[in-house]
This record gives sequence, C-alpha cells and structure tokens, in this order.
Amino acid sequence: MVQSSVLGFPRIGAFRELKKTTEAYWSGKVGKDELFKVGKEIRENNWKLQKAAGVDVIASNDFSYYDQVLDLSLLFNAIPERYTKYELDPIDTLFAMGRGLQRKATDSEKAVDVTALEMVKWFDSNYHYVRPTFSHSTEFKLNGQKPVDEYLEAKKLGIETRPVVVGPVSYLFLGKADKDSLDLEPISLLEKILPVYAELLAKLSAAGATSVQIDEPILVLDLPEKVQAAFKTAYEYLANAKNIPKLVVASYFGDVRPNLASIKGLPVHGFHFDFVRAPEQFDEVVAALTAEQVLSVGIIDGRNIWKADFSEAVAFVEKAIAALGKDRVIVATSSSLLHTPVDLTNEKKLDSEIKNWFSFATQKLDEVVVVAKAVSGEDVKEALSVNAAAIKSRKDSAITNDADVQKKVDSINEKLSSRAAAFPERLAAQKGKFNLPLFPTTTIGSFPQTKDIRINRNKFTKGEITAEQYDTFIKSEIEKVVRFQEEIGLDVLVHGEPERNDMVQYFGEQLKGFAFTTNGWVQSYGSRYVRPPVVVGDVSRPHAMSVKESVYAQSITKKPMKGMLTGPITVLRWSFPRNDVSQKVQALQLGLALRDEVNDLEAASVEVIQVDEPAIREGLPLRSGQERSDYLKYAAESFRIATSGVKNTTQIHSHFCYSDLDPNHIKALDADVVSIEFSKKDDPNYIQEFSNYPNHIGLGLFDIHSPRIPSKEEFIARIGEILKVYPADKFWVNPDCGLKTRGWEEVRASLTNMVEAAKTYREKYAQN
Ligand SMILES: [Zn+2]
Repeated sequence: MVQSSVLGFPRIGAFRELKKTTEAYWSGKVGKDELFKVGKEIRENNWKLQKAAGVDVIASNDFSYYDQVLDLSLLFNAIPERYTKYELDPIDTLFAMGRGLQRKATDSEKAVDVTALEMVKWFDSNYHYVRPTFSHSTEFKLNGQKPVDEYLEAKKLGIETRPVVVGPVSYLFLGKADKDSLDLEPISLLEKILPVYAELLAKLSAAGATSVQIDEPILVLDLPEKVQAAFKTAYEYLANAKNIPKLVVASYFGDVRPNLASIKGLPVHGFHFDFVRAPEQFDEVVAALTAEQVLSVGIIDGRNIWKADFSEAVAFVEKAIAALGKDRVIVATSSSLLHTPVDLTNEKKLDSEIKNWFSFATQKLDEVVVVAKAVSGEDVKEALSVNAAAIKSRKDSAITNDADVQKKVDSINEKLSSRAAAFPERLAAQKGKFNLPLFPTTTIGSFPQTKDIRINRNKFTKGEITAEQYDTFIKSEIEKVVRFQEEIGLDVLVHGEPERNDMVQYFGEQLKGFAFTTNGWVQSYGSRYVRPPVVVGDVSRPHAMSVKESVYAQSITKKPMKGMLTGPITVLRWSFPRNDVSQKVQALQLGLALRDEVNDLEAASVEVIQVDEPAIREGLPLRSGQERSDYLKYAAESFRIATSGVKNTTQIHSHFCYSDLDPNHIKALDADVVSIEFSKKDDPNYIQEFSNYPNHIGLGLFDIHSPRIPSKEEFIARIGEILKVYPADKFWVNPDCGLKTRGWEEVRASLTNMVEAAKTYREKYAQN
C-alpha cells in the first residue's frame, strides 16, 4: 500500500476559533488557560480529521499561535535582548516579537514598550512569517520543547504523527542580522545552531517519533554558494548525531533543480518535492535519489482550492512508482494546507456548479487518500468517475468561456498602456493643480474598521437594515474620517474605506468572473486572516465599484481626495487564481476591468487615484530568469492598462508593502507617487536604492501592525535619517500601510505626531 501524507493542516479552526481566542487574550478578556485550551482543541480536531480520512502520515507541530518560524526563534532562544529584558512568559514573548507590545505599568506588571520583529512574505504566498533576527550575542539553546509536547499530545490520542520543523539552513537563511550586528551573516551561525537541532531531534526520537519532516523551502530559491554548501554540513552533522529520527527533507513552491547538487547524496531518509508547481523536475530529482531514499510526491495542490484532476495525479504517481517501486513513494499534498480554507462543506451559499469544482483542506485529505489508494490498486472507480465529471463541467462551462472578454484581451495594444506624457510633464501639471506643500502627508487608505462598522455591515448583509440606512451610516463614517484628517492637517485625504470588508474581496464581489466564500478563511499573519475571492472565470466589470463613496468624500472637502483601488496583480495574487488559463491573461483581464473604474473616477472629479499593488513583489517568480522578466512585464502592463486612460493632471498613486521590494520592479508601472512599507528597514543602502527612483515616494514611517504609538521626536529622527540619503523634493510622509486593523486612539495619536513632524521639516526647509 502506497502511503498518503499531508504536510500540514490549517491551524485557524473551521470558524476562526484561534483568531477569536488570541484576540480575546490580547485584550485581556480571556486568560492563558482558555487560549491554550482552544489551541489544544484545534490540534486535536485536525489530527482526528486526518486520521478519520485515512491519511497515513499526519504532521504535528504544524500548529502555531502566531507563526511557525517565530515559534522556532522562541524555541532556539533567538530572542533579541529588547524582549528578554522584560522577563515575560514565553507566550507573551512570542506575541511581543510577533506584534510588538506597549503596556503601562500596573501593580503586578512592569511597563513594556517594544516594537515587533520584521514580518515578510513567506515565499510567493500570502502568508507572512516573522523574520528571525540574529546578533553576535545570540546564544542558541533549547528554550522549551513545543514540537515534543505536540507530538506527545497526538500520541496520547492514539495518533502517530510526523513532527515538522523548518530546517537549519532555511531557518538561518530566512533570517537577518539585527541592527547592532549588521556585519553578521546568518548562515555563519550554522555550526552554532546544529547542536540545538540535534538536541531537539533526539528529544523527539526519545518521545517516540520515528520520522521528522524537516522543511527546507529555500531549495526553490537562487542560493549563494555558501548556503548551498550548508546543506551538506548540516545534514552530515545531523546524520552523525545520536538518536536522530529519520529525516524527510521537504521543499515546496517550485523547482529544486538548480540546487540539486547540494542535496544529492545527503544522508537523509528521503525528500518531498512539489510536483504541482514544478512537474518538470521529476526525472532529475528521481535520478538524484540514492537507492534507498523515499520520494514524497507533492501532487495535491496545497496552495489552491481547485479539485485535483485524479487521472493526471494518478498517472504522475504511477510514473514515480515505476521508477522507484511502491515502498519508496508517498502521495502527498504539494505543501502544507495552511494556504487553503478549512472545509468546503461549510459553504452553503456557493453556486452548486462552481462548488463542484472546489476542494478545501478537508476535501484535499480525501484526495490524497484516493490517489494513494488508486495507485495501490484499490477500487476507487466511483471516486475517479465523479472527479472526471467535475473536471469536465468546469472546462465546458460558460463561466470559463466568455468570448467578449477574450476578444478585448486579444485587442490590447501599446497605446492602451501608456500615459499621455512622461513623468516630468505630468509632475508640472499636477503641481499646478494640487499645489501641495513640501513633505506632503497622506495615509495609505483604510481607517480603523471599528466594531460599529462591522455590526452595521453584518446587519446590512443579513437584511436587518435597508440599503438606505446602510448608505447613511457609511456616509457618516466617511465624514468622520474626512473631518479628522482635516483637523490634524493631512494634505491628501482618503475616505477611510468603511464600506470595504477587504481590499480584494470588496472588488472581487463586484466583478464578474469571481466567486466568494462564507468561511473560506486563510491565515495571512498572526490573527489576521483573509477570505480570498476565487477567480472562477473570465473577468469583467459590470458596474462601477467605488465611485459613489469616493465622490461623496471629495464633495465634502476642498482637499484632494484619493480614489482607492486594488491593482490587477494584487487582486489576482490575493485571490485563488484559475489554474486553467495563465496568470498573465487573468492580470490583463483585471487591468481592463480596473481601467473602466479609474476612468469613471476621473470623470466624477476624483483626480488623485491610488491603485495599490502590494502583492507585486510576492508574485515575482522565486528565481531570476525568463519567467521573472515575463512576469514583471505583464505586471507593469496590466497596471498601466488600468491607469493610463487619465489626463496628465490626474495623479496616480500606488502602494507596496511587506516584501523586499526592488525599486527597479516598480519603475515600469510609471505611477506618479508610490508609498511603501519601510518603518522596519534599517539598512541605509536600501534607502539609497530608493533615492534613485525617478518619481515621488513616501517611505512608510510607522508600523501599522503594532499598537504602539511613535512620538513626534521619533518621527523627526526617522525622517532625518532617511533625508541623509533621500531627496526632500520627492519625499512624501505616510504610514507603512492601511490603518484598518488599528484602534482610533492609536491612529489619532500616531498620525498627529507624524503630521507634526512633517510640519517641522517643512518649516526647517522653508527657512533654508
Ligand atoms: Zn500596505
């Protein structure tokens, strides 16, 4: 019998139980006992579900209260001194590192004021991990035994699991040096961290674990030689250590072939590779295995919600069996299922035609098992024929075959994607029109999504208030935000987006070619989950989506109001994309749909328009080369199709965040002003790179994921630091990102301090 394996299961709970409890814990409404109880229940449910589905190899330690990489930093004691000095409980240290902590002194507790560690995208997914941060004083040691505890927890339920941990080479490579140790290369810490890995693995072995999944996802990246060489060092060290379980090294999200030489012959039990994303690596990775090594064949997509095509999956696995024999092949999900919603059966409102095309994490368990059974020779005819009918229904549907949209895409030409004049000419025209001061201040778009907003939205969704009542409510919220911005002296205003549930979902719900779910939540970071729309067919815009709110907001102020849209790549990346047409075609369809919206905004006198593309960096193919340049080309083209139909006086903004953005990647978008997340970037060379950017930029000045409030002096210092390398006449002043997850009090104080700091510099420069 060929074994089935799942690399990890979503840890948020089918109804977001983890979010509700962690947030209640943060606000002091529940204690640690309740938090830990809910975590335990989720883990138990997940294991039992997988066991019941018949999955053979079930992961443990895939659970986390915040992030699995952050868990390792806590476990290995890679905790910067600024956190340890408060002597918090481990779980509070974890949260302080993940999200920062600012708390006043009480009788029983000391005051705390500490910023979060940097958070970055997990490869090309919409998950974010907390970046390990090392310094010369980092002393690795085992600080607890979470993986062991969770292994034993499952064992107590009678469920044997395979613990999963991020491997040493990836863990170090994904980290960075702390501010005080910028000369430190994280990979140079390998020899210091290996004994701690060995100790952890021995503890797992002593607890009874026979096998451990050790994730080395960086194998799909371009790696420096030193890092490539580290695999041999690391795994030979572990092979020689005492009492080490069998190790299965797992990579996902791409092709490992360029790094194959560095893992070939490693003394490990086997490998897991992602054949959904990179089936073309099959022959070479199989040839690179030793005569005993097993191959975990990642064939059920862990990153998407489409039903697997069983006939293709079975044929693929049979190829592996022909090469290696049944005993050396495992049928697996391509990656952890963390990136998929929990359970399709909770979707009661999905159109039945479309629902029949979907498969969420719970359904994917069955898929892995059916494919494993099919290749083992068990009778699964019924399951195979039901699957074949669903695959055919999608292929033949009118939803996936809209001739009008396809014709429009075919007729795209150069003119459609170029602005009327080059930037210098547009800048002059916009200066005349808006007359903005030096260091213009703005925000990224959203303002706090208060409880009141959510309550009213829910009431409206449920039909408890009329459209008119909801409209009045939204208008009053917009007015509140506009008056606030005027009061504190911001220069370019936003309407605050009270009508939007999410920057992608809101548009997805109004575009043709999308479907959306009721409970299809996926973790983005910490307690922030998103419910991605699904691109199910060809995309078009049947009606205006944002014009009403922006026009109202502009009508109640003399200051320029930004119309706020989400760009084609971001809509695509933060949705579940189709897997039956290319992403390029989907991006161009979205560009055309957004162009209609941009032109409608301008015609309605909203003449500053921001089209956010925060996802542009995460969409970048993980390796350099042709695929990457093709992507950058169509990403820029779809953005320019959306934004090039306007006059020179109309100012196009764009926004980017939470990625190591290369300014060269956004030049081709030709936006007049861009704002980027920047508050945690400390490297002066990185600021330098942006100073060469030809158009205007706002480098984000404060972390919007943290509740802490930077003082005016802090803003002044930060602006001063950036001004050392960055020219004042291109300098916009703004936060890192939208403010919707923050409370009003924090927003009021932070923005006031930010605007005051901008005024200080304005006066200073006026005097010079
Ligand atoms: Zn952002």
